[in-house]
Amino acid sequence: MEGATEKIWMDGEFLPWDEAKIHILTHSLHYGLGVFEGIRCYKTIRGSAVFRLDEHMRRLCDSSHIVGIDLPYDQATLTNAVLETIRVNKIEACYIRPLIWLGYGSMGVNPAGAPVRSMIAVWKWGAYLGEEGLEKGIRVKVSSFTSHHPNSYMTGAKTTGNYAVSQLAKMEAVRSGVDEALMIDPEGFVAQGSGENIFLVRDGILKTPPLHGVLRGITRETVMALAREQGLEIEVVMFARDEVYAADEAFFTGTAAELTPIREVDGRMIGGGKPGPITKRLQTSFFSVVNGEDEAHLSWLTNV
Ligand code: PMP
Repeated sequence: MEGATEKIWMDGEFLPWDEAKIHILTHSLHYGLGVFEGIRCYKTIRGSAVFRLDEHMRRLCDSSHIVGIDLPYDQATLTNAVLETIRVNKIEACYIRPLIWLGYGSMGVNPAGAPVRSMIAVWKWGAYLGEEGLEKGIRVKVSSFTSHHPNSYMTGAKTTGNYAVSQLAKMEAVRSGVDEALMIDPEGFVAQGSGENIFLVRDGILKTPPLHGVLRGITRETVMALAREQGLEIEVVMFARDEVYAADEAFFTGTAAELTPIREVDGRMIGGGKPGPITKRLQTSFFSVVNGEDEAHLSWLTNV
């Protein structure tokens, strides 16, 4: 795999990357119950630092609690294991993937008897939607797949199974020649991207959907905090796809996607077909935070 590192933390010990293996009858592989996180470590001007590590690890514990998986480690132990995995691999900037899953031991739908397993891997991962996407904006398609109803597989938890629909949406978008999918919820309102939260700008006001069936994005919350500090008005409201088409600006947020402008949705140009001024300003603020240049937000960075 591109970007692979040397070691993976698995159930409390470090294994060589190629030896971190599981049994083919792993329960989660068959039925999709697992919880995970996606976190980034940046090479900041003060050395390597993980962005909002505590918030990510808290969400991992919450996800686990929500789906009824008893974590074998507490949050502090897992947090230390993340930092240790970065150190052991001597990598300055990376994507971090902790995963908790149900292992080999029973094959009924009831996972009782399947051991809870855990792992943390880190690898080198650049701009998720491309450097050009970050700079010029990406093209998006409204998905024909509806995002989950919050009561089918709790959308507030970051579970592996939730990503089946994200994958269908992403594959459909890429096959039709665009970069990313925008999913609509069961009521017809805009929910989220396949791995991102969405924001619009209209008449200088920032809009994002409420957390009804969308993941509580840590980047979403970060961008909202930065926007508030800059005096921007934010409306957390439901909107349908027509408001996206008519937006002055639009962008996605996510750990992998960071803050990626959207320049086109369903063949319609957004704004002038290039990143708008508010999007660009927030993107600059976001990158100065994660690069450690913004002294006011150093508390969001955990030094490795
Ligand atoms: N929605 C979905 C479906 C996601 O997969 C992600 C990425 N984790 C997000 C939103 C954004 O969350 P965050 O900013 O915490 O990475």
